Amino acid sequence: MIKTRFAPSPTGVLHVGGARTALFCWLFSRKVGGKFVLRIEDTDLERSTQASVQAILDGMAWLKLDHDEGPFYQTQRFDRYREVIQQLLDQDHAYYCACSKQRLEKLRETQMANKEKPRYDGCCRDQGLKPGDAENLVIRFRNPQRGEVSFEDQVKGEITVNNAELDDLIIARGDGSPTYNLSVVVDDIDMQITHVVRGDDHVNNTPRQINIFKALDAPCPLFAHVPMILGDDGKRLSKRHGAVGVMQYFEEGYLPEAMLNYLVRLGWSHGDQEIFTVEEMIEHFELSSINRAPSVFNSDKLRWINQQYLMSLPLSDIVELVVNRLNKLGVENREASGLDVIVDLYRQRVSTVNELVDSIMYCFQEFDKYDEKAARKTLKPAAIEPLQLLLKYLTELNDWQADSIHQVIENVTRELDLNMGKVGQPLRVALTGGSFSPPIDQTVAMIGKERSLRRISKAIETIFTK
Ligand code: GLU
Repeated sequence: MIKTRFAPSPTGVLHVGGARTALFCWLFSRKVGGKFVLRIEDTDLERSTQASVQAILDGMAWLKLDHDEGPFYQTQRFDRYREVIQQLLDQDHAYYCACSKQRLEKLRETQMANKEKPRYDGCCRDQGLKPGDAENLVIRFRNPQRGEVSFEDQVKGEITVNNAELDDLIIARGDGSPTYNLSVVVDDIDMQITHVVRGDDHVNNTPRQINIFKALDAPCPLFAHVPMILGDDGKRLSKRHGAVGVMQYFEEGYLPEAMLNYLVRLGWSHGDQEIFTVEEMIEHFELSSINRAPSVFNSDKLRWINQQYLMSLPLSDIVELVVNRLNKLGVENREASGLDVIVDLYRQRVSTVNELVDSIMYCFQEFDKYDEKAARKTLKPAAIEPLQLLLKYLTELNDWQADSIHQVIENVTRELDLNMGKVGQPLRVALTGGSFSPPIDQTVAMIGKERSLRRISKAIETIFTK
């Protein structure tokens, strides 16, 4: 059974890079009919928070990256790590080390001064220290000193490192708590992970982890290290580049389908196809077609993809998102009927749900300002008469339906001998503040009688004389 895992540390939100790693793991497991495990690596007690666990779970749920097993929490597995550390000690694959911070610091300084790679010098390796021999003993893995570690990275190709370059890393701190490289290996063994897909910031850990797998006599998973994501300035993507937490995109009105589509194309391609349904992603995804080079995050492209999805997803989905957003903004008193017409019209013109809601807000709330250009062009003295007549007839109208409103507008054009534009357009600017809206009779119907009348009066008062 093929199994992948996503193993975030809950020290912040689920950011774009993490979400892409999760997506690649998830896609691969879905493609091969395997399992996807979610593991929360919360052993760093100082930096891990419950809020960030929740942020990760929320991000995964928003993107619909569902897991088959977990979430497992490393903090609940300390007994197991202790057991494995003891096993490594018993089999002489690990040893106690009493080197002080000061000694290690000095060693490091000397090595740096000699232009050597800073590494532990194995001082306690053969001392045979036992618990109690000194305070706060750490435990180090006895890395093989000869030979090399080689693995076939599914993205980067063969990677070989000489064991002489790897020092004896700490696997348990002075307080007995396990370090990352130990717990990750124990978990990958216990959870029977077959494919480790993760960011390439971990590629240097992999040879060390492979040595631990070997010491524990456990089969090694395959590894795929995904290159990092850069900001448009060529530096590693970070908060400096704006929104990097995926839920921030949710807040801004991006669609999960668009986010997934954008993420999958960050460092992976299938011919020159840009738009993928999730089914297509699963069908075409291969670890071997992940780019070796870093990819650059491009928010314009994300906007473009979001726009494609806004236009192409079922209208009812978009209406639901709009309704959610309106609820969130506390907008009440909205006419449910007609919302789908207006959403359908505006979704062609905006890039996010929030922009969509902003541009239809005139349906639900008064606006303070007219679109300057539209108002100057349309709210001129010639508009006074048609607006006054519309106000009169609409005040008298009781049947507030698009058909009857249409009739009123036609009557006004006939009575004043004006074409439709000379009547409909001032009315539109009066009601919406701008020069774009659904058919004017529908717009008036949707805005409702009281509001419409108020807005027409206000427009008459505002008429620009110059
Ligand atoms: N917890 C690690 C991180 O968030 C990932 C470890 C792994 O995938 O092996 O960077």
